[in-house]
Amino acid sequence: MGSLTKTVVLLCVISSVLCTPFINKLQPGQEWPTRSSVKQPYHQFDEIENGTISDTVATEVAAQEEKAPENNKPKVKEDDVERIDYSGAQVWKVSTKKSNAHRVINQLASEKLIASWGGNHTSIDILVKPKAVENVTATLKNKDIAYYIMIEDLQQRIDEENPPLDENELELQDRRGHRMTWKQYHRLEDIHGFLDYLAKTYPSIVSVNSIGKSHEGRDLKVLRISDGKKTNKAVFIDGGIHAREWISPAVVTYFINQFAENFDVESDDIRNIDWYFLPVVNPDGYEYTHKTDRLWRKNRRGFGGCAGADLNRNFGYQWGGKGASRYPCSEIYRGSGPFSEPESKAIAQFFKSTGADFSAYLTYHSYGQYLLYPWGYDNALPPDHKNLETVGKMMAQAIQKTGGSEYKVGSSSGLLYPAAGGSDDWAKSLNIKYTYTIELSDTGRYGFVLPASYIEPVARENLAGLRVLASQVNKE
Ligand SMILES: [Zn+2]
Repeated sequence: MGSLTKTVVLLCVISSVLCTPFINKLQPGQEWPTRSSVKQPYHQFDEIENGTISDTVATEVAAQEEKAPENNKPKVKEDDVERIDYSGAQVWKVSTKKSNAHRVINQLASEKLIASWGGNHTSIDILVKPKAVENVTATLKNKDIAYYIMIEDLQQRIDEENPPLDENELELQDRRGHRMTWKQYHRLEDIHGFLDYLAKTYPSIVSVNSIGKSHEGRDLKVLRISDGKKTNKAVFIDGGIHAREWISPAVVTYFINQFAENFDVESDDIRNIDWYFLPVVNPDGYEYTHKTDRLWRKNRRGFGGCAGADLNRNFGYQWGGKGASRYPCSEIYRGSGPFSEPESKAIAQFFKSTGADFSAYLTYHSYGQYLLYPWGYDNALPPDHKNLETVGKMMAQAIQKTGGSEYKVGSSSGLLYPAAGGSDDWAKSLNIKYTYTIELSDTGRYGFVLPASYIEPVARENLAGLRVLASQVNKE
């Protein structure tokens, strides 16, 4: 062995990151690079704080929901599936400008009259249960807290959200070799079928691997698009961490379709990146929102009387801090420990074992129209926050120029509220430079129940944002 080779091998043993070009001798698109040795990004496991309950609205609502069983909602039988009926439930935007607003909202939540849908520093969106409309109206009027009704009847919106495809589309679907369209929200089977179709159709650039299984045994499929150039950068994109945010997997699969179907004519910025997409991080929850409860958020693992951990509170950096709950019935239950959930754990293991050296991690959520960078766990900023702000603003500009939607840019904790255990913080802790959580449309008119006719416009404008990111990654 020559001395140069010896040095290279030694370097490989010390640092697999440096070695990626040397170990990646595989045919383009066929096999994925894996690490020859593994760096340990989990030092923070030793630094877990005791799960302190913060005073943020979400957390208090969570704490109050400790004993609320998930099945206290009316259900109707439909095709042998118990579907939760939201008839008469409303969604309101409540101003939090008055100092007593948070206290009043927490009180209403503790009485199980409302549930939080999210908010920022000026307002909070709440779901008002059908029987509570009168009571909550009186309370807010009495306290002089401003609000307006965004959704009069939630079930009606749910019924109108995802209409069946027309005959032309159905015919196209049969001819295409996969069932995916961006005119409808599709079941997991269609999404996975689409990924497999691309791998079969474009084997030289597209490959699909299951990086693990969900609690109920569904595959966590990652699709890679790459021409195998050794100089390529790498970008990881996921969607569907939260089950009810249907626009997210729809947008991520739109990106996949664009890059895979048009790779030959795509820009160099796109072709010089190894793309990794995990469009549905939470497949059990996603299927559950289609079959049973349209507004389910968490995964579907059982914890005593309640199901589900919030996967976006389960990642292993600053796990258990502010804005995450220790109570299994809470919507923001953090899980029993960092990466206690099979879905988040699979992502962690994938990053540990992959030989790819990621320059960017993007995670798509809804709703609110925000481009958020770390940190989320507390009001703190990473050293390169100015750079993240600048690039975020460039992405937001491209989005607005393309489709007209206005996205606000800032740190998660600063623009919204602290939420520890998020995937973005964890990705940033791995030194992935461009880490963003993107909250897609809208700003509350439809909230989570965004009609399928919005998929294409939302995806198109966000593709423009993604192109800006790709260009930036190539400049690094
Ligand atoms: Zn989300």
